[in-house]
Amino acid sequence: MLILKGTISQMQIQLRGWTGSKNMPKKGPKVVVIGAGIAGVGAAGKLLTQGLTDVQIIEASSQPGGRIRGSLFGKSTIDEGAQYIHGASTKNPVYQLAKEHDLLQETHDRSGPELLVLTNMQKQLDPDIVKEVKNLARNILQNAHLLAHQRGYAQAKSLADVYLEEVKMLLTQWVGDHTDLRRQKQGFLSMLMKLQCAHLAAASLGEVSVHEYEEYKNIEGNDRSSPGLFPNLLQKLLEAIPREKLLLKKPIKQIQWNGSFESGGSSVYSVRVVCEDGDHILADHIIVSISLGCLKANGQAFFQPRLPEQKLSAIQSLGFGTMNKIYLEYETPFWDENTDVIGLVWEDETPFSVQKPNLTEWWKHVPVFYVIRPTERYGHVLVGTISGKEAEFVESLNPQEVASRCTYLFRQFTGRSSLPELKSVYVTKWFSNPYTRGSYSHISITSTGAMIDQLAEPLPQATEGSSSPMLQVLFAGEATHRSYHSTTHGALLSGWREATRLIDHYSTK
Ligand SMILES: Cc1cc2nc3c(=O)[nH]c(=O)nc-3n(C[C@H](O)[C@H](O)[C@H](O)COP(=O)(O)OP(=O)(O)OC[C@H]3O[C@@H](n4cnc5c(N)ncnc54)[C@H](O)[C@@H]3O)c2cc1C
Repeated sequence: MLILKGTISQMQIQLRGWTGSKNMPKKGPKVVVIGAGIAGVGAAGKLLTQGLTDVQIIEASSQPGGRIRGSLFGKSTIDEGAQYIHGASTKNPVYQLAKEHDLLQETHDRSGPELLVLTNMQKQLDPDIVKEVKNLARNILQNAHLLAHQRGYAQAKSLADVYLEEVKMLLTQWVGDHTDLRRQKQGFLSMLMKLQCAHLAAASLGEVSVHEYEEYKNIEGNDRSSPGLFPNLLQKLLEAIPREKLLLKKPIKQIQWNGSFESGGSSVYSVRVVCEDGDHILADHIIVSISLGCLKANGQAFFQPRLPEQKLSAIQSLGFGTMNKIYLEYETPFWDENTDVIGLVWEDETPFSVQKPNLTEWWKHVPVFYVIRPTERYGHVLVGTISGKEAEFVESLNPQEVASRCTYLFRQFTGRSSLPELKSVYVTKWFSNPYTRGSYSHISITSTGAMIDQLAEPLPQATEGSSSPMLQVLFAGEATHRSYHSTTHGALLSGWREATRLIDHYSTK
Protein backbone atom coordinates (compact mmCIF):
# COMPACT_ATOMS: atom_id res chain seq x y z
CA MET A 1 0.00 0.00 0.00
CA LEU A 2 1.50 3.33 -1.00
CA ILE A 3 -0.17 6.03 0.97
CA LEU A 4 -0.05 9.24 -1.00
CA LYS A 5 -3.18 10.93 0.10
CA GLY A 6 -1.81 14.41 -0.40
CA THR A 7 -4.09 16.92 -1.99
CA ILE A 8 -7.40 18.09 -0.73
CA SER A 9 -9.10 20.94 -2.48
CA GLN A 10 -9.41 24.38 -1.04
CA MET A 11 -13.17 23.79 -0.91
CA GLN A 12 -12.71 20.96 1.56
CA ILE A 13 -10.77 23.01 4.05
CA GLN A 14 -12.96 24.16 6.85
CA LEU A 15 -10.51 26.44 8.52
CA ARG A 16 -12.83 28.87 10.23
CA GLY A 17 -12.19 32.19 8.55
CA TRP A 18 -8.68 31.27 7.49
CA THR A 19 -9.11 30.37 3.84
CA GLY A 20 -6.90 32.67 1.87
CA SER A 21 -4.63 33.50 4.80
CA LYS A 22 -1.10 34.29 3.71
CA ASN A 23 0.41 31.05 5.05
CA MET A 24 -2.20 28.75 3.58
CA PRO A 25 -0.82 26.48 0.84
CA LYS A 26 -2.92 26.02 -2.31
CA LYS A 27 -3.83 22.56 -1.10
CA GLY A 28 -4.98 22.16 2.49
CA PRO A 29 -2.09 21.52 4.86
CA LYS A 30 -1.52 17.86 5.61
CA VAL A 31 -0.43 17.04 9.16
CA VAL A 32 0.89 13.66 10.29
CA VAL A 33 1.09 12.96 14.00
CA ILE A 34 3.51 10.22 15.00
CA GLY A 35 2.42 8.36 18.11
CA ALA A 36 -1.06 7.91 19.57
CA GLY A 37 -0.25 8.55 23.22
CA ILE A 38 -2.13 11.30 25.04
CA ALA A 39 0.13 13.97 23.45
CA GLY A 40 -0.47 12.76 19.88
CA VAL A 41 -4.18 12.13 20.35
CA GLY A 42 -4.57 15.50 22.08
CA ALA A 43 -2.74 17.26 19.22
CA ALA A 44 -4.77 15.55 16.48
CA GLY A 45 -8.05 16.22 18.29
CA LYS A 46 -7.30 19.91 18.61
CA LEU A 47 -6.26 20.22 14.95
CA LEU A 48 -9.42 18.49 13.77
CA THR A 49 -11.80 20.43 15.98
CA GLN A 50 -10.16 23.71 14.97
CA GLY A 51 -10.53 23.07 11.25
CA LEU A 52 -7.30 21.48 10.01
CA THR A 53 -8.99 18.41 8.62
CA ASP A 54 -6.21 16.57 6.79
CA VAL A 55 -4.70 14.90 9.81
CA GLN A 56 -3.36 11.35 10.12
CA ILE A 57 -2.04 9.66 13.27
CA ILE A 58 0.50 6.89 12.79
CA GLU A 59 0.94 4.52 15.72
CA ALA A 60 3.38 1.59 16.00
CA SER A 61 1.38 -0.48 18.51
CA SER A 62 -1.86 -2.34 17.95
CA GLN A 63 -3.68 0.06 20.27
CA PRO A 64 -3.54 3.78 21.04
CA GLY A 65 -2.60 5.11 24.49
CA GLY A 66 1.16 4.59 24.71
CA ARG A 67 2.05 4.92 28.38
CA ILE A 68 -1.65 4.93 29.25
CA ARG A 69 -2.57 1.31 29.31
CA GLY A 70 -5.03 -0.81 31.27
CA SER A 71 -4.59 -4.58 31.64
CA LEU A 72 -6.81 -7.21 33.14
CA PHE A 73 -5.44 -8.42 36.45
CA GLY A 74 -7.34 -10.24 39.17
CA LYS A 75 -10.90 -8.96 39.33
CA SER A 76 -10.39 -5.76 37.36
CA THR A 77 -8.26 -3.63 35.08
CA ILE A 78 -5.05 -2.21 36.51
CA ASP A 79 -2.95 0.67 35.19
CA GLU A 80 0.35 -0.39 33.70
CA GLY A 81 1.38 3.23 33.21
CA ALA A 82 -0.31 6.44 34.34
CA GLN A 83 -2.58 6.00 37.34
CA TYR A 84 -2.82 9.28 39.28
CA ILE A 85 -3.76 12.80 38.33
CA HIS A 86 -0.86 14.68 39.88
CA GLY A 87 -2.52 17.79 41.27
CA ALA A 88 -6.25 17.16 41.15
CA SER A 89 -7.53 20.70 40.77
CA THR A 90 -9.04 22.82 38.03
CA LYS A 91 -5.53 24.03 37.15
CA ASN A 92 -4.83 20.56 35.77
CA PRO A 93 -6.27 19.96 32.27
CA VAL A 94 -6.41 16.20 32.84
CA TYR A 95 -8.46 16.73 35.99
CA GLN A 96 -10.73 19.17 34.17
CA LEU A 97 -11.36 16.72 31.33
CA ALA A 98 -11.91 13.84 33.75
CA LYS A 99 -14.47 15.93 35.61
CA GLU A 100 -16.18 17.07 32.43
CA HIS A 101 -16.57 13.44 31.35
CA ASP A 102 -17.63 12.28 34.79
CA LEU A 103 -14.69 9.90 35.20
CA LEU A 104 -14.02 10.59 38.87
CA GLN A 105 -16.75 8.58 40.52
CA GLU A 106 -14.83 6.12 42.71
CA THR A 107 -11.86 8.34 43.41
CA HIS A 108 -8.99 7.32 45.61
CA ASP A 109 -6.63 9.92 47.03
CA ARG A 110 -2.97 9.04 47.50
CA SER A 111 -1.88 12.11 49.43
CA GLY A 112 -1.60 11.79 53.18
CA PRO A 113 -2.11 8.00 53.24
CA GLU A 114 -1.65 5.68 56.18
CA LEU A 115 2.00 4.57 55.79
CA LEU A 116 2.99 1.44 57.67
CA VAL A 117 6.78 1.13 57.77
CA LEU A 118 8.24 -2.31 58.56
CA THR A 119 11.88 -3.29 58.87
CA ASN A 120 13.71 -6.47 57.91
CA MET A 121 14.21 -7.00 61.69
CA GLN A 122 10.42 -7.35 62.07
CA LYS A 123 10.04 -3.94 63.67
CA GLN A 124 7.44 -1.31 62.88
CA LEU A 125 8.63 2.31 62.79
CA ASP A 126 6.89 4.70 65.13
CA PRO A 127 4.36 6.78 63.10
CA ASP A 128 5.70 10.03 64.60
CA ILE A 129 9.23 9.16 63.49
CA VAL A 130 7.88 8.24 60.05
CA LYS A 131 6.15 11.60 59.75
CA GLU A 132 9.14 13.59 61.00
CA VAL A 133 11.76 11.91 58.79
CA LYS A 134 9.46 11.92 55.75
CA ASN A 135 8.97 15.69 56.08
CA LEU A 136 12.72 16.25 56.49
CA ALA A 137 13.49 14.24 53.35
CA ARG A 138 10.76 15.94 51.33
CA ASN A 139 12.02 19.39 52.31
CA ILE A 140 15.58 18.51 51.33
CA LEU A 141 14.57 17.22 47.90
CA GLN A 142 12.03 19.90 47.04
CA ASN A 143 14.48 22.66 48.03
CA ALA A 144 17.68 21.00 46.86
CA HIS A 145 18.67 23.82 44.49
CA LEU A 146 18.16 26.43 47.24
CA LEU A 147 20.02 24.39 49.85
CA ALA A 148 22.91 23.84 47.46
CA HIS A 149 23.07 27.58 46.94
CA GLN A 150 22.50 28.73 50.55
CA ARG A 151 24.86 26.25 52.14
CA GLY A 152 27.52 26.70 49.47
CA TYR A 153 27.77 22.99 48.70
CA ALA A 154 30.61 23.15 46.25
CA GLN A 155 29.96 21.22 43.03
CA ALA A 156 26.51 20.01 44.16
CA LYS A 157 25.13 18.79 40.88
CA SER A 158 22.74 16.04 41.81
CA LEU A 159 19.91 15.56 44.27
CA ALA A 160 22.11 12.92 45.95
CA ASP A 161 24.90 15.46 46.51
CA VAL A 162 22.54 17.67 48.52
CA TYR A 163 20.62 14.83 50.18
CA LEU A 164 23.76 13.13 51.46
CA GLU A 165 25.23 16.38 52.80
CA GLU A 166 22.00 17.07 54.67
CA VAL A 167 21.88 13.48 55.96
CA LYS A 168 25.37 13.93 57.42
CA MET A 169 24.03 16.92 59.38
CA LEU A 170 20.98 14.98 60.51
CA LEU A 171 23.18 12.16 61.78
CA THR A 172 25.02 14.60 64.04
CA GLN A 173 21.66 15.67 65.47
CA TRP A 174 20.65 12.06 66.06
CA VAL A 175 23.76 11.04 68.06
CA GLY A 176 21.69 10.88 71.24
CA ASP A 177 19.27 8.35 69.76
CA HIS A 178 19.46 4.67 70.65
CA THR A 179 21.58 2.71 68.11
CA ASP A 180 18.54 0.76 66.87
CA LEU A 181 16.59 3.95 66.26
CA ARG A 182 19.50 5.53 64.41
CA ARG A 183 19.77 2.46 62.18
CA GLN A 184 16.05 2.55 61.50
CA LYS A 185 16.08 6.25 60.69
CA GLN A 186 19.01 5.77 58.29
CA GLY A 187 17.27 2.81 56.70
CA PHE A 188 14.13 4.89 56.34
CA LEU A 189 16.08 7.73 54.71
CA SER A 190 17.43 5.13 52.24
CA MET A 191 13.92 3.86 51.58
CA LEU A 192 12.77 7.41 50.87
CA MET A 193 15.67 7.83 48.43
CA LYS A 194 14.54 4.73 46.54
CA LEU A 195 10.95 5.96 46.57
CA GLN A 196 12.08 9.26 45.12
CA CYS A 197 14.01 7.40 42.42
CA ALA A 198 10.80 5.54 41.53
CA HIS A 199 8.87 8.86 41.36
CA LEU A 200 11.56 10.23 39.04
CA ALA A 201 12.14 6.99 37.09
CA ALA A 202 15.82 7.34 37.94
CA ALA A 203 18.40 4.70 38.82
CA SER A 204 19.80 6.88 41.60
CA LEU A 205 19.42 10.41 42.90
CA GLY A 206 23.04 10.86 41.80
CA GLU A 207 21.72 10.97 38.22
CA VAL A 208 19.12 13.68 38.78
CA SER A 209 19.95 17.36 38.58
CA VAL A 210 19.66 19.50 41.66
CA HIS A 211 17.44 21.72 39.47
CA GLU A 212 14.77 19.06 38.84
CA TYR A 213 12.35 20.46 41.41
CA GLU A 214 13.16 24.02 40.46
CA GLU A 215 11.92 23.28 36.93
CA TYR A 216 9.11 20.80 37.66
CA LYS A 217 6.04 22.59 38.98
CA ASN A 218 3.58 20.92 41.31
CA ILE A 219 -0.05 21.69 40.59
CA GLU A 220 -2.11 22.29 43.71
CA GLY A 221 -4.32 19.39 44.74
CA ASN A 222 -3.78 15.80 45.79
CA ASP A 223 -2.78 12.79 43.70
CA ARG A 224 -6.09 11.30 42.68
CA SER A 225 -7.07 8.16 40.84
CA SER A 226 -10.24 6.39 39.84
CA PRO A 227 -10.66 2.94 38.26
CA GLY A 228 -10.13 3.06 34.51
CA LEU A 229 -9.58 6.82 34.64
CA PHE A 230 -6.80 7.19 32.08
CA PRO A 231 -7.92 4.59 29.50
CA ASN A 232 -11.43 6.11 29.65
CA LEU A 233 -10.07 9.61 29.29
CA LEU A 234 -8.08 8.54 26.26
CA GLN A 235 -11.23 7.04 24.73
CA LYS A 236 -13.00 10.37 25.22
CA LEU A 237 -10.17 12.20 23.45
CA LEU A 238 -10.25 9.63 20.63
CA GLU A 239 -13.91 10.42 20.00
CA ALA A 240 -12.78 13.62 18.25
CA ILE A 241 -10.78 11.54 15.73
CA PRO A 242 -12.50 9.61 12.92
CA ARG A 243 -11.33 5.98 12.98
CA GLU A 244 -9.78 6.13 9.50
CA LYS A 245 -7.44 8.89 10.65
CA LEU A 246 -5.69 6.56 13.08
CA LEU A 247 -3.32 4.03 11.52
CA LEU A 248 -2.32 1.33 14.02
CA LYS A 249 0.49 -1.26 13.81
CA LYS A 250 2.46 1.08 11.60
CA PRO A 251 5.87 1.76 13.10
CA ILE A 252 7.78 4.49 11.36
CA LYS A 253 11.39 3.98 10.38
CA GLN A 254 12.50 7.35 9.14
CA ILE A 255 11.43 10.96 8.87
CA GLN A 256 12.80 12.73 5.81
CA TRP A 257 12.41 16.48 6.18
CA ASN A 258 13.46 19.67 4.42
CA GLY A 259 12.74 17.88 1.16
CA SER A 260 10.61 18.39 -1.88
CA PHE A 261 8.52 15.27 -2.29
CA GLU A 262 6.00 15.03 -5.09
CA SER A 263 2.75 13.18 -4.71
CA GLY A 264 1.04 11.47 -7.65
CA GLY A 265 -0.71 14.77 -8.37
CA SER A 266 0.96 18.11 -8.60
CA SER A 267 1.41 18.65 -4.88
CA VAL A 268 4.80 18.94 -3.26
CA TYR A 269 5.46 18.20 0.40
CA SER A 270 8.43 18.97 2.64
CA VAL A 271 8.26 15.83 4.76
CA ARG A 272 8.18 12.13 3.93
CA VAL A 273 7.56 9.56 6.63
CA VAL A 274 8.95 6.12 5.84
CA CYS A 275 7.19 3.26 7.61
CA GLU A 276 8.78 -0.06 8.50
CA ASP A 277 6.40 -1.84 6.10
CA GLY A 278 7.76 0.24 3.21
CA ASP A 279 4.87 2.72 2.94
CA HIS A 280 5.70 6.38 2.45
CA ILE A 281 3.43 9.07 3.79
CA LEU A 282 3.86 12.66 2.68
CA ALA A 283 3.07 15.70 4.82
CA ASP A 284 3.47 19.42 5.16
CA HIS A 285 3.95 19.09 8.90
CA ILE A 286 4.58 16.25 11.29
CA ILE A 287 4.20 16.26 15.04
CA VAL A 288 6.61 13.75 16.59
CA SER A 289 5.28 12.56 19.95
CA ILE A 290 7.31 9.39 20.51
CA SER A 291 9.03 8.99 23.87
CA LEU A 292 12.42 10.46 24.70
CA GLY A 293 13.59 6.86 25.19
CA CYS A 294 12.81 6.10 21.53
CA LEU A 295 14.41 9.36 20.40
CA LYS A 296 17.55 8.47 22.35
CA ALA A 297 17.68 5.02 20.77
CA ASN A 298 16.81 6.07 17.22
CA GLY A 299 17.23 9.84 17.07
CA GLN A 300 20.22 9.80 14.71
CA ALA A 301 18.82 7.27 12.27
CA PHE A 302 15.20 8.48 12.43
CA PHE A 303 15.84 11.87 10.91
CA GLN A 304 17.16 12.57 7.44
CA PRO A 305 18.82 15.08 7.30
CA ARG A 306 20.31 14.61 10.74
CA LEU A 307 18.91 16.69 13.57
CA PRO A 308 20.81 19.88 14.46
CA GLU A 309 23.54 19.31 17.05
CA GLN A 310 21.72 21.26 19.76
CA LYS A 311 18.63 19.06 19.40
CA LEU A 312 20.69 15.85 19.41
CA SER A 313 22.53 17.04 22.48
CA ALA A 314 19.23 17.72 24.31
CA ILE A 315 17.99 14.24 23.37
CA GLN A 316 21.14 12.53 24.58
CA SER A 317 21.57 14.61 27.74
CA LEU A 318 18.08 14.76 29.23
CA GLY A 319 17.24 11.94 31.62
CA PHE A 320 14.83 9.14 30.77
CA GLY A 321 14.63 6.13 33.06
CA THR A 322 12.56 3.11 33.94
CA MET A 323 9.98 2.71 36.66
CA ASN A 324 8.07 -0.55 36.68
CA LYS A 325 5.15 -1.73 38.74
CA ILE A 326 4.85 -5.13 40.41
CA TYR A 327 1.20 -6.06 40.97
CA LEU A 328 0.47 -8.77 43.56
CA GLU A 329 -2.93 -10.36 44.11
CA TYR A 330 -3.83 -12.15 47.37
CA GLU A 331 -6.80 -14.32 48.30
CA THR A 332 -6.85 -12.69 51.74
CA PRO A 333 -4.99 -9.57 52.86
CA PHE A 334 -2.20 -9.73 55.42
CA TRP A 335 -2.37 -5.95 55.97
CA ASP A 336 -5.05 -4.28 58.01
CA GLU A 337 -7.94 -2.27 56.64
CA ASN A 338 -6.46 1.16 57.39
CA THR A 339 -3.11 0.57 55.73
CA ASP A 340 -2.64 2.37 52.40
CA VAL A 341 1.10 1.93 51.90
CA ILE A 342 3.60 -0.60 53.25
CA GLY A 343 7.16 0.76 53.41
CA LEU A 344 10.10 -1.66 53.57
CA VAL A 345 13.19 -0.55 55.49
CA TRP A 346 16.46 -2.51 55.51
CA GLU A 347 18.11 -1.66 58.79
CA ASP A 348 21.59 -2.41 57.44
CA GLU A 349 21.23 0.18 54.66
CA THR A 350 22.26 3.81 54.80
CA PRO A 351 21.69 6.55 52.20
CA PHE A 352 25.41 6.22 51.45
CA SER A 353 25.23 2.50 50.73
CA VAL A 354 22.30 2.37 48.29
CA GLN A 355 23.76 4.29 45.37
CA LYS A 356 24.91 1.32 43.29
CA PRO A 357 22.67 -1.16 41.44
CA ASN A 358 22.23 -4.55 43.09
CA LEU A 359 20.64 -6.92 40.60
CA THR A 360 21.14 -10.09 42.61
CA GLU A 361 19.01 -8.58 45.37
CA TRP A 362 16.68 -6.58 43.11
CA TRP A 363 13.84 -6.78 45.67
CA LYS A 364 15.78 -4.48 48.00
CA HIS A 365 15.08 -1.73 45.47
CA VAL A 366 11.29 -1.92 45.97
CA PRO A 367 10.71 0.75 48.63
CA VAL A 368 6.95 0.51 49.05
CA PHE A 369 3.83 -1.42 48.13
CA TYR A 370 0.58 0.53 47.74
CA VAL A 371 -2.77 -1.05 48.54
CA ILE A 372 -5.01 -0.74 45.49
CA ARG A 373 -8.46 0.60 46.33
CA PRO A 374 -11.39 0.11 46.26
CA THR A 375 -11.04 -3.50 47.42
CA GLU A 376 -14.59 -4.39 46.31
CA ARG A 377 -13.51 -3.71 42.73
CA TYR A 378 -9.91 -4.94 42.67
CA GLY A 379 -9.81 -7.61 45.35
CA HIS A 380 -6.74 -7.71 47.60
CA VAL A 381 -4.07 -6.19 45.38
CA LEU A 382 -0.76 -4.50 46.18
CA VAL A 383 1.45 -2.65 43.75
CA GLY A 384 5.16 -2.11 44.31
CA THR A 385 7.34 0.35 42.40
CA ILE A 386 10.90 -0.27 41.28
CA SER A 387 13.28 1.89 39.24
CA GLY A 388 16.69 1.85 37.61
CA LYS A 389 18.72 -1.19 36.56
CA GLU A 390 16.75 -3.35 38.99
CA ALA A 391 13.54 -2.32 37.19
CA GLU A 392 15.08 -3.31 33.87
CA PHE A 393 16.30 -6.61 35.33
CA VAL A 394 12.96 -7.57 36.87
CA GLU A 395 11.44 -7.53 33.36
CA SER A 396 13.61 -10.52 32.47
CA LEU A 397 12.42 -12.66 35.39
CA ASN A 398 9.84 -15.39 35.32
CA PRO A 399 6.66 -14.17 37.16
CA GLN A 400 6.86 -17.22 39.44
CA GLU A 401 10.31 -16.13 40.57
CA VAL A 402 9.03 -12.62 41.34
CA ALA A 403 6.04 -14.06 43.21
CA SER A 404 8.09 -16.34 45.46
CA ARG A 405 10.61 -13.59 46.19
CA CYS A 406 7.78 -11.21 47.21
CA THR A 407 6.25 -13.86 49.47
CA TYR A 408 9.64 -14.41 51.09
CA LEU A 409 10.07 -10.63 51.47
CA PHE A 410 6.77 -10.12 53.30
CA ARG A 411 7.36 -13.17 55.49
CA GLN A 412 10.74 -11.73 56.44
CA PHE A 413 9.37 -8.25 57.23
CA THR A 414 6.29 -9.37 59.14
CA GLY A 415 7.96 -12.35 60.81
CA ARG A 416 4.92 -14.44 59.88
CA SER A 417 6.01 -17.61 58.11
CA SER A 418 2.36 -18.52 57.54
CA LEU A 419 1.78 -15.51 55.27
CA PRO A 420 -0.33 -16.62 52.29
CA GLU A 421 1.14 -17.41 48.89
CA LEU A 422 0.22 -15.02 46.09
CA LYS A 423 -2.71 -15.71 43.81
CA SER A 424 -1.11 -13.93 40.86
CA VAL A 425 1.61 -11.47 39.93
CA TYR A 426 2.11 -9.05 37.05
CA VAL A 427 5.22 -7.03 36.22
CA THR A 428 5.14 -4.15 33.74
CA LYS A 429 7.85 -4.03 31.07
CA TRP A 430 8.35 -0.43 30.03
CA PHE A 431 12.07 -0.80 29.36
CA SER A 432 11.86 -3.67 26.88
CA ASN A 433 8.84 -2.14 25.13
CA PRO A 434 10.45 -1.03 21.84
CA TYR A 435 7.96 1.85 21.52
CA THR A 436 8.69 3.34 24.92
CA ARG A 437 12.16 2.15 26.03
CA GLY A 438 11.63 3.31 29.59
CA SER A 439 9.03 5.16 31.61
CA TYR A 440 9.45 8.94 31.68
CA SER A 441 11.88 11.83 31.75
CA HIS A 442 13.72 13.90 34.33
CA ILE A 443 16.42 16.55 34.27
CA SER A 444 19.65 14.64 34.59
CA ILE A 445 22.93 16.04 35.87
CA THR A 446 24.09 16.42 32.28
CA SER A 447 21.08 18.53 31.28
CA THR A 448 19.18 21.71 32.06
CA GLY A 449 15.57 22.87 31.89
CA ALA A 450 16.51 24.94 28.83
CA MET A 451 17.27 21.70 26.98
CA ILE A 452 13.62 20.72 27.30
CA ASP A 453 12.75 23.88 25.39
CA GLN A 454 15.40 23.01 22.79
CA LEU A 455 13.87 19.56 22.42
CA ALA A 456 10.47 21.17 21.87
CA GLU A 457 11.68 23.62 19.23
CA PRO A 458 10.26 22.96 15.75
CA LEU A 459 12.39 22.38 12.67
CA PRO A 460 13.74 23.87 10.55
CA GLN A 461 15.00 26.52 12.89
CA ALA A 462 14.33 30.03 11.64
CA THR A 463 17.38 31.42 9.87
CA GLU A 464 17.54 34.69 8.08
CA GLY A 465 17.01 34.47 4.36
CA SER A 466 15.92 30.81 4.48
CA SER A 467 13.15 29.96 2.07
CA SER A 468 12.41 26.50 3.52
CA PRO A 469 8.82 26.03 4.63
CA MET A 470 8.59 26.51 8.39
CA LEU A 471 7.23 24.13 11.00
CA GLN A 472 8.01 20.94 9.10
CA VAL A 473 8.82 18.85 12.17
CA LEU A 474 7.23 19.69 15.51
CA PHE A 475 7.92 17.94 18.81
CA ALA A 476 5.40 16.98 21.48
CA GLY A 477 5.32 14.42 24.31
CA GLU A 478 5.83 14.58 28.07
CA ALA A 479 9.59 15.15 27.80
CA THR A 480 9.01 18.40 25.86
CA HIS A 481 7.11 20.11 28.69
CA ARG A 482 9.53 22.03 30.89
CA SER A 483 7.28 22.42 33.94
CA TYR A 484 5.22 19.24 33.78
CA HIS A 485 7.55 16.70 32.15
CA SER A 486 6.93 13.06 33.16
CA THR A 487 3.16 13.51 33.52
CA THR A 488 0.01 13.00 31.50
CA HIS A 489 -0.96 16.64 31.88
CA GLY A 490 2.46 17.69 30.58
CA ALA A 491 2.04 15.35 27.61
CA LEU A 492 -1.47 16.58 26.82
CA LEU A 493 -0.47 20.24 27.10
CA SER A 494 2.52 19.60 24.81
CA GLY A 495 0.22 18.11 22.16
CA TRP A 496 -2.16 21.04 22.40
CA ARG A 497 0.83 23.43 22.26
CA GLU A 498 2.03 22.04 18.93
CA ALA A 499 -1.48 21.91 17.45
CA THR A 500 -1.96 25.55 18.45
CA ARG A 501 1.38 26.42 16.86
CA LEU A 502 0.12 25.11 13.52
CA ILE A 503 -3.34 26.64 13.91
CA ASP A 504 -1.77 30.03 14.66
CA HIS A 505 0.54 29.61 11.68
CA TYR A 506 -2.45 29.33 9.37
CA SER A 507 -4.63 31.92 11.00
CA THR A 508 -4.85 35.27 9.24
CA LYS A 509 -2.05 37.49 10.34
C1 LIG B 1 4.85 3.11 35.05
C2 LIG B 1 4.38 4.51 34.73
C3 LIG B 1 3.61 5.20 35.66
C4 LIG B 1 3.15 6.48 35.39
N1 LIG B 1 2.34 7.12 36.29
C5 LIG B 1 1.82 8.33 35.99
C6 LIG B 1 0.85 8.92 36.84
O1 LIG B 1 0.43 8.33 37.84
N2 LIG B 1 0.37 10.15 36.49
C7 LIG B 1 0.78 10.82 35.37
O2 LIG B 1 0.31 11.93 35.12
N3 LIG B 1 1.70 10.26 34.55
C8 LIG B 1 2.21 9.04 34.82
N4 LIG B 1 3.09 8.44 33.96
C9 LIG B 1 3.59 9.20 32.81
C10 LIG B 1 2.58 9.26 31.68
O3 LIG B 1 2.07 7.98 31.43
C11 LIG B 1 3.28 9.80 30.43
O4 LIG B 1 3.92 11.02 30.74
C12 LIG B 1 2.33 10.06 29.26
O5 LIG B 1 1.37 9.04 29.12
C13 LIG B 1 3.18 10.17 28.00
O6 LIG B 1 2.37 10.43 26.90
P1 LIG B 1 3.05 10.77 25.49
O7 LIG B 1 1.94 10.94 24.53
O8 LIG B 1 4.03 11.86 25.65
O9 LIG B 1 3.93 9.49 25.13
P2 LIG B 1 3.50 7.97 24.87
O10 LIG B 1 2.33 7.64 25.69
O11 LIG B 1 4.71 7.16 25.04
O12 LIG B 1 3.05 7.98 23.35
C14 LIG B 1 3.96 7.86 22.29
C15 LIG B 1 3.38 6.91 21.26
O13 LIG B 1 4.32 6.81 20.18
C16 LIG B 1 4.30 5.48 19.69
N5 LIG B 1 5.55 5.21 18.97
C17 LIG B 1 6.80 5.02 19.49
N6 LIG B 1 7.67 4.74 18.50
C18 LIG B 1 6.98 4.78 17.34
C19 LIG B 1 7.33 4.57 15.98
N7 LIG B 1 8.58 4.27 15.60
N8 LIG B 1 6.36 4.69 15.04
C20 LIG B 1 5.09 5.02 15.38
N9 LIG B 1 4.70 5.20 16.66
C21 LIG B 1 5.63 5.08 17.63
C22 LIG B 1 4.16 4.65 20.96
O14 LIG B 1 3.69 3.35 20.67
C23 LIG B 1 3.18 5.49 21.78
O15 LIG B 1 1.85 5.09 21.59
C24 LIG B 1 3.51 7.12 34.17
C25 LIG B 1 4.26 6.42 33.23
C26 LIG B 1 4.68 5.13 33.50
C27 LIG B 1 5.46 4.38 32.45
